[in-house]
Amino acid sequence: MTRILPRDLLAHRDELVAIRHDIHRHPETAFEENRTADVVAAKLAAWGIPVHRGLAKTGVVGTLKGRKPGQRAIALRADMDALNLQEMNSFAHRSVHDGKMHACGHDGHTTMLLGAAKQLAADPDFAGTLHFIFQPAEEGEAGARVMIEEGLFEKFPCDAVYGMHNMPGIATGKFAIRTGPMMAASDTWTVVFRGTGGHGAMPFKGTDPVMPAAAFVTATQSIVGRNISPQHAAVVSVGHIAAGSHGSPNVIPAQVTIRGTARSYTPADRDLLERRLGELADGIAKAHGCAAEYHYLRRYPPLVNAVEQTATAIRAAQATVGDALVDGDAEALTGAEDFAFMLEKKPGAYILLGNGGAEEGGCSYVHTPTYDFNDDILLAGAAFWVNLVAEELGSAG
Ligand SMILES: [Zn+2]
Ligand SMILES: [Zn+2]
Repeated sequence: MTRILPRDLLAHRDELVAIRHDIHRHPETAFEENRTADVVAAKLAAWGIPVHRGLAKTGVVGTLKGRKPGQRAIALRADMDALNLQEMNSFAHRSVHDGKMHACGHDGHTTMLLGAAKQLAADPDFAGTLHFIFQPAEEGEAGARVMIEEGLFEKFPCDAVYGMHNMPGIATGKFAIRTGPMMAASDTWTVVFRGTGGHGAMPFKGTDPVMPAAAFVTATQSIVGRNISPQHAAVVSVGHIAAGSHGSPNVIPAQVTIRGTARSYTPADRDLLERRLGELADGIAKAHGCAAEYHYLRRYPPLVNAVEQTATAIRAAQATVGDALVDGDAEALTGAEDFAFMLEKKPGAYILLGNGGAEEGGCSYVHTPTYDFNDDILLAGAAFWVNLVAEELGSAG
């Protein structure tokens, strides 16, 4: 199976841009991607690819058999959901839904995978089975986990799974990936400090939960500074503090709620963050005669790229854009990504594709109201998927 260049897909460009703009114009959030799923399923069906619908409500899986015999199967995954964000762009394809926006480029991810599906359906010159996974609810709602729980990999067995995300700040059309931990585990924690509260003039008559709360906020930073190995990265941040009433500065509140996020790259560091936050909350509360209620919610696991599949993805990227535009030792990100759930079940890799921006003076970062996916990378992304299939399933076996 021969490798292709982005320009070999030029005939598809107008159609892909039209699909991308249509999806951008009609953003849908977690588990409500009904219209988007209709668009995806209709395109796959029109190109002769059998479609399964309904996993995690709006998930779509297309399955394409190669024309050569083969036992291997791989899955390529794109996310379809938008964000709850008011778009500030004024171009013609801006969102028609107030408060919803494709601000993470999942419109582009869906379109690039459709582009690959069209090309491969027209010329399935590979051996084995290919699954195109279009998943809902990547943004915070773990659509990937729900698809897995509902039998994704039993219904569609595969030997490896791959994902891709655009990235502003990386040059247009440049690929970036690393072996091992690539994105962080993202967890949310809550501590409620409880005391008696009381009159602000008579703190000695009760217990003041503001004192342990203040000490705890500072102490959270000792976990990364003193407990995590200096060779590892981790982040603890406080994002929410609530206590008392604005109109009552002379009242000591009876409880203080503190919430935050914890990011880590290994299961052991994740365990350590969970344990130490709880120990600090409990110990500091007791030292001040208060009590602490602690809850740690594991949201997304760390995203870990497998050695073999990362090397395969690098070869596919090099075939697509040339060696100079492929960074195989990119920095890990502190963001999280629910494709990590798929990589917990199957070996695979997750690659970034530069969207331009920042140093190029182009588009904004993801999750900002002026962001837009860069149509100039549609063909590179689609060609990468085609070349990845060639690397994985190019010869019978
Ligand atoms: Zn996002
Ligand atoms: Zn995203």
